[in-house]
Amino acid sequence: MLVVQKFGGTSVGTLERIEATAKRVIETKKSGADVVVVVSAMSGVTNQLVEYGEHFSKQPNPIAMDMLLSSGEQVTTSLLTIALNEMGYPAVGLTGAMAGIYTDDIHTKARIENINTSRIKRELRDGKIVIVAGFQGITKGGDITTLGRGGSDLSAVALSGALDADLCEIFTDVDGVYTTDPRVEKRAKKLNTISYDEMLELASAGAKVLQNRSVELAKKLNVKLITRNSFNHNEGTLITGEDVSMEAVLVSGIALDKNQARVTLRGVVDKPGIAADIFTVLAEKNINVDMIIQNVGQDGTTNLGFTVPQNELELTKQTMSTLAAAKHIEYDDQIVKVSIVGVGMKSHSGIACLAFETLAKEGINIQMISTSEIKLSVIVDQKYAELAVRVLHNAYQLEK
Ligand code: ASP
Ligand code: MG
Repeated sequence: MLVVQKFGGTSVGTLERIEATAKRVIETKKSGADVVVVVSAMSGVTNQLVEYGEHFSKQPNPIAMDMLLSSGEQVTTSLLTIALNEMGYPAVGLTGAMAGIYTDDIHTKARIENINTSRIKRELRDGKIVIVAGFQGITKGGDITTLGRGGSDLSAVALSGALDADLCEIFTDVDGVYTTDPRVEKRAKKLNTISYDEMLELASAGAKVLQNRSVELAKKLNVKLITRNSFNHNEGTLITGEDVSMEAVLVSGIALDKNQARVTLRGVVDKPGIAADIFTVLAEKNINVDMIIQNVGQDGTTNLGFTVPQNELELTKQTMSTLAAAKHIEYDDQIVKVSIVGVGMKSHSGIACLAFETLAKEGINIQMISTSEIKLSVIVDQKYAELAVRVLHNAYQLEK
């Protein structure tokens, strides 16, 4: 039995927490499993390091930045290793490079290309607990890279896949994945199981328990993933292939994304190629366009609306000003996206209607709608954000 355990920033946020983490790891080791531990930097450290780097330059050299950022995880790796050894459990700490994690050379958001597991396997054979610094790797040329913010989750999942681990446990400071944000709806319930696809939709719709790329990779490599709380021994949420969840739930969660802004173009010339022009320019700037709606044209013009992340709105405005695409462009950042997610939506009609009725009853106007196989998203005025989540949570009886 091989278990990969990943501990996030708050779980290793103080020396006391690192000691608690060591004890948690020992429990697993004592149960007879081999353990590979992946750690994040102590909470707040990576942000601090980013600030330090940006003190000297608005666009710090990315290679130097990666050397800087990777240091946070090395601190926790070393401290946990020292603590475990002192408690009588032989442990070895490895940087991403020492652990054989090879990436491409896109610094500060590198992708893992392959993992040479021979060192880790040798240490495990020697009976050691192996601690690996998350969020980092090395290029073939020997430069340190980091994997993008939240990247320790990805390290843990990639290692689980490469080592063919039986289980990958992601420890955070919440009990698992909830039907919605418990700060918005007190009656939110922790889910015991959720499918990779639902988790991906919830995460991209604003629920931030796991980094999105790590869930994608877990799905691809079929890694058995559990997210749980390092501050208690509650059961957590199992994220797995959907056939395992036999509960026949229609809707599993409601996500709220406040980082949304809407762009409306009025009087767009209605001819082929216009949408291509607009969205190509936005894509070139790496702006993540989410929902798009276009009205039926009239008198040779049409209206086009789309949403972008709020923190990319400035860049969007600049970019749109270089295009003579529309007579009027309006921007609105006082909106939110509310999404209903559930694999049951694939096979049941009428799920969307309940959402529309529920919102209508509260007088909440829907500005945009989009659907996928397992998700329904609506854009509503920001002032209704919490109300919309609560009434929908209630309508789909998610507290049960
Ligand atoms: N320390 C990194 C970050 O804050 C990676 C991680 O915690 O997953 O983004
Ligand atoms: Mg994290």
